[in-house]
Amino acid sequence: MEKKCLSCRKNYIISSTDLQYKKLIQNPHALYICTNCSRGMQKDAQTSTGLNPDMLDHHDKYLR
Ligand SMILES: [Zn+2]
Repeated sequence: MEKKCLSCRKNYIISSTDLQYKKLIQNPHALYICTNCSRGMQKDAQTSTGLNPDMLDHHDKYLR
């Protein structure tokens, strides 16, 4: 599936191995933040965007 990053507005292909894939399948209107942006957001704006810090943390670990 293709999703546009909420932050940088680039389109990304979300594969079934992506940790956010299930969430996006279950809720097609869920917001998508690409990995680069989610890393930057861990430091700020978590509360204002409503993103779950645990999810971001998990996503970050997955990529290392
Ligand atoms: Zn982005």
